[in-house]
Amino acid sequence: MSEILKTEAVVLKKINYGDSSKIATFFSKDHGKLSAIIKGARSPKSKIGLMIDVFNNVQLVFYRKNNRDLHFISQADMIAHYPKIKENLDKLKYSLAVLELTDALTIENEANPKLYRGLSRMLQLFNDSEEEPRTLLIKYILFILKETGYGTDFNKCSSCERKLSANDKAFFSYDSGILCDACSGNRIDGMSMSKELFEIFFCLTTNSNFEYNISDADKAIALLDKFIKRHVSEFRGFQFLQIL
Ligand SMILES: [Zn+2]
Repeated sequence: MSEILKTEAVVLKKINYGDSSKIATFFSKDHGKLSAIIKGARSPKSKIGLMIDVFNNVQLVFYRKNNRDLHFISQADMIAHYPKIKENLDKLKYSLAVLELTDALTIENEANPKLYRGLSRMLQLFNDSEEEPRTLLIKYILFILKETGYGTDFNKCSSCERKLSANDKAFFSYDSGILCDACSGNRIDGMSMSKELFEIFFCLTTNSNFEYNISDADKAIALLDKFIKRHVSEFRGFQFLQIL
């Protein structure tokens, strides 16, 4: 038995399959992550093959067969695409990290419309806004960690729950998250955060205005990368940030 379904989705990745087809992975509004075969997608004449490209936001019609993880796409229509992302290496790099993380942190058939809206909005921001791509990535990481249950607070100690201020000394444990100076003791499962680094997280999670330099933003991303690797076995680190 198979059923025909329709949903909006963002294309997370696409790989070749067989001689002429492709398998695409999507994060969809109504069915969470899903993978589907696009038959004949490698032919330049395949309209669906061209439409289903990484980053694109599409309206999909697909067949779902019982007991199978792989679906068949029968129709795709464009909702939005983001040409400016592909024209700028920094935008490209950090938004590919957004897709990579979404793939690692979500599971098939588990809908999360809020996460879907957040992902679509983030890609729109990468395309349209002048905001530093690193800031957008950090914001998205904090958002998706919260949405998928891995979130950690940056404005209070994860052990004694004391509220922290931007000037506090803080330690980041890859196991438990932020710790105040008193609770961190001699722990070695993380790193002492510089004032600048802590301020990035503190300000982003409390929506305060701030300025920071790019190397501190890269350190913040590296720290989150280690934290996610520790908690999510499917996540192998931000591959595109190393390659591009
Ligand atoms: Zn504490």
